[in-house]
Amino acid sequence: MQKYLSKNDFSRWMKCPTAAYYGWSGLESKNESDAFLRYLAEEGQTVGRMARRLFANAEFIEEKVLEAAYRTTRARIQNDCTLFEACVIQGDFVVRPDILIRKDSSIYIIEVKSKVGNLRQHREGKMPINMYGDVRAAYKEIVHDLAFQVEVLRLAFPDLTVVPYFLLPEGSALSNKEEVVTARREEQIVLSGGDSVSVNRRRSDSVLKFFPTEQAIQHIKASTVATMDAMAVTWKSGERPAPQLKYGCRNCEFRLKEQESGDGFHRCWGRLAEPTPHIFDLHQLYSLKLPDKKQALLRCDESLSRNDNWKRGRLLENEGSHRHFAPQLRHPRHRESVDHL
Ligand code: SF4
Repeated sequence: MQKYLSKNDFSRWMKCPTAAYYGWSGLESKNESDAFLRYLAEEGQTVGRMARRLFANAEFIEEKVLEAAYRTTRARIQNDCTLFEACVIQGDFVVRPDILIRKDSSIYIIEVKSKVGNLRQHREGKMPINMYGDVRAAYKEIVHDLAFQVEVLRLAFPDLTVVPYFLLPEGSALSNKEEVVTARREEQIVLSGGDSVSVNRRRSDSVLKFFPTEQAIQHIKASTVATMDAMAVTWKSGERPAPQLKYGCRNCEFRLKEQESGDGFHRCWGRLAEPTPHIFDLHQLYSLKLPDKKQALLRCDESLSRNDNWKRGRLLENEGSHRHFAPQLRHPRHRESVDHL
């Protein structure tokens, strides 16, 4: 069992408390082996390196052991400083902000994301908040992620003012070739020297821009605190939160394979997870595979290209040709076969 709750746990908890439980219990997640998610993570690291070029006189907190990293962070934060990958432990929680700056009586936390921002909308007060004053759905995940970190910092440094920012690619800004090429190199980028002129030039040339986020964080402060408390109580109890079966379970990261009875999805759904094809797979009948995994239920015509076969499948499905197959498909939640579809 892990020693602290991190922003990953919080992010999972926001989607599904049972998934958070599986995460901190060490259950296998398909996200760990997903090549596309790994690629996105590598791209995220490139954006992180681009961000680090915009700060001078910063220090990397290198320690991997959390307690050691926290001791170094605490020591540095006594004075003005800029830290990359700082570590703050507070009670049950741990955070490692991308960029942390101590300046006078304030701590600036800067979260670097590859999600595109819009400075014009931000100045008009529409990003990441919508016209009703709520956090926009598109930014919800990253705002909650930052809100969790801000709350931990507020608890850890009650005498300092915590000021949150996003550093995001601005949608209308042109990217700078030198910036991208340098950031794609593997090594960590830490600028030395206090050349504020070159840092300012890099910032104005960069595709990354600063987005103050205090208003959005303040807006969800109360719910963030309540959610963190509820998560910590469950974590300490060691009990699994009762699964809330829902349509969103189809994309659960703990749904490994159709027949993987030990995965999180089967633990939640029990016998309802067993039918093959599963009810979650019935929305695109033309894409269903026979057991040999080679043929779609609506058979492919090998004389056609893949694209044309796809169009043909859509056509057949729209015409109702899938009814030839539907009588075979039964599900425990359906008393009758689905031939009335
Ligand atoms: S199957 Fe559903 S309830 Fe269970 S962990 Fe996944 S999302 Fe949560």
